[in-house]
Amino acid sequence: MARELPPTAGLPLRLTDLWPGRAAFAERVAQWLGVDPLQLECSGTAAMVVALRAMHRLRPQRDEVIVPAWTCPLVALAIHRAGLKPRLCDLTPNHFDMDAAQLGALAGERTLAIVPTHLAGRIADVNLVLDVAHRVGAYVLEDAAQALGAQQDGRSVGLLGDAGFFSLAVGKGLTLFEGGLLLTRDPVLRDAFAVSHDATIRPDARMDWQRALELIGYTLAYRPSLLSLAYGRPLRKALAANDPVAAVGDDFGPDIPLHTVSPWRQAVGSRALKRLPAFLDATRTQALARVARLCRIPGVTVFDDAPRQRGVWPFLLLTLPSEAARDDALRSLWTAGVGVSRLFIHALPDYAYLRGIVPDTPLPNARDFAARSLTISNSLWLDEATFASICTVLERAAGA
Ligand SMILES: *Cc1c(COP(=O)(O)O)cnc(C)c1O
Repeated sequence: MARELPPTAGLPLRLTDLWPGRAAFAERVAQWLGVDPLQLECSGTAAMVVALRAMHRLRPQRDEVIVPAWTCPLVALAIHRAGLKPRLCDLTPNHFDMDAAQLGALAGERTLAIVPTHLAGRIADVNLVLDVAHRVGAYVLEDAAQALGAQQDGRSVGLLGDAGFFSLAVGKGLTLFEGGLLLTRDPVLRDAFAVSHDATIRPDARMDWQRALELIGYTLAYRPSLLSLAYGRPLRKALAANDPVAAVGDDFGPDIPLHTVSPWRQAVGSRALKRLPAFLDATRTQALARVARLCRIPGVTVFDDAPRQRGVWPFLLLTLPSEAARDDALRSLWTAGVGVSRLFIHALPDYAYLRGIVPDTPLPNARDFAARSLTISNSLWLDEATFASICTVLERAAGA
């Protein structure tokens, strides 16, 4: 079978990670990050539901949550599930950060929380959001789903605002197949998160079995010789059916599982965690060289760390000069098994299943970013020759 590379650099699991056992996974991650206790949830989405419900109990007169208009659709579903209303902020031109002027105009006395989002392991402008949030009395909840291990000024993301969450889903670095971690530096919020967890989350033996089997399946199939079965074939089928939302796995249903994480999956994660620092170092070295190479292609914008930031590198996020150029590059790269893909297909109002959940407002910059962006896997299986051939395609597409 043909080699197939994953779209992101997930830490591969080993068979020996799967031995029976139990471990205090969240405590070990907290120790590694050098942060206060973390709260383990069954997904990043579940972590967001638990956090928003807790914030709403503390400030019940506020019911709106401001998010970037180009983000994971699960974010809108989590807000809805928490009984709150999403408000969409357009992006800064050619950037994934929220537009400062629009953010200032959207925020007000009904704003419960603002969600700066650290996409692709890059670090969002949290200070801008803090200024706006504190002026109106809202919380800042950092979406660090794609940024476990990222730091600014030597401190973990999630500590810059009032609270933050990480995702442990497949494809986001360290994985329990699904999982999430909640982080806050505020003792009042930490207690409120624990109360919210107890009120919302139940054990579920059926989900424990399902996730255990999925995690074993991931351990076996996450390798270039087998990924074509689990990832490549469904991707090509969805693209042939003209369904890019399904191709990138953005086709979420309204059901959000809310259950505990079994001790065994925590043991698996704890064993894999020991290899994560070295893995992040290796992916960082590879990424920095490749970002430098991509920067030399006229018309291509690659997202990098600013001074005092040390992000993580699951994949490289870039934009091309136009939608036509981006689509031209994807025509040969997306189905080639080389780890090139797209992140979120649409701005949030353009997902059919979010109609009625998010407001439809003009969002020119978010729609433009969705139309011109693509991603390159930073998997260590993506070798130099293949990366060079990707650059050649991008050069031709950007120059046309
Ligand atoms: C994946 C993701 C989420 C949701 O996390 P899950 O663990 O998949 O529920 C939220 N926000 C962003 C930006 C994500 O990429």
